[in-house]
Amino acid sequence: MKCPNCGDRTLVDIDMHSGGFSSEESPVKECGACGLVWRVKTELGVTKIDIIKPADKQK
Ligand SMILES: [Zn+2]
Repeated sequence: MKCPNCGDRTLVDIDMHSGGFSSEESPVKECGACGLVWRVKTELGVTKIDIIKPADKQK
């Protein structure tokens, strides 16, 4: 999976289970290149990208 913002593949999984996220949700990803934080979730069979934190720098 690539970063939806910049297409970089340097991704970091963020463990947010201690923050109340259930294990049924996809892991939160952080892009190592642009700083975007997002999560992929499936609603009614449709895969959606949920942006948690916008990119903090442009590539
Ligand atoms: Zn990125």
